[in-house]
Amino acid sequence: MMERTLLLLKPDAIQRKLIGKIITRFEKKGLRIIGIKMLKLSKENAKEHYSHLLDKPFYPGLEEFMTNHPIIAMVVEGQECVEVVRKMVGVTNARKAESGTIRGDYSLSTGRNTIHASDSPETAKKEVARFFSEDELFEYKLAVFEYLYAEDERE
Ligand code: UDP
Ligand code: MG
Repeated sequence: MMERTLLLLKPDAIQRKLIGKIITRFEKKGLRIIGIKMLKLSKENAKEHYSHLLDKPFYPGLEEFMTNHPIIAMVVEGQECVEVVRKMVGVTNARKAESGTIRGDYSLSTGRNTIHASDSPETAKKEVARFFSEDELFEYKLAVFEYLYAEDERE
């Protein structure tokens, strides 16, 4: 099933000049990038985005980090891409993340783990809508589409 998911390249990824390397991984996997922009997260948006963490002791630091610096938001699309992308990203604590994952290769931290990715198809729908309006998302034809998916995988 074709899905969309939201990615945020966090301030540490930008400072550490990892933007290109991270985006390249999604391009090489065959995912279609349908939206991308740089922005500053508002405190309200941070509270909404991290609503499951508001009562955690690390939340104030997380909010400060995520709202005081620009981030890059992206939407990618592909078959079952929410799960695919979470696997590519690796677990939250980058010290435990497998080598070969983005967090596993580029970070040693939980609070500076370079990237956010939506954790379920339901969350992804909400998160895509939180960061992008429909006119910021582009349904262009990927020329290699027939080489990325077989006939029975294209819906
Ligand atoms: N986080 C943190 N300390 C923790 C747990 C989470 O700083 O003990 C931060 C971390 O940056 C993480 C984000 O909060 O990526 C969101 O946490 P979540 O549990 O949703 O993990 P994720 O979905 O990013 O793997
Ligand atoms: Mg999460």
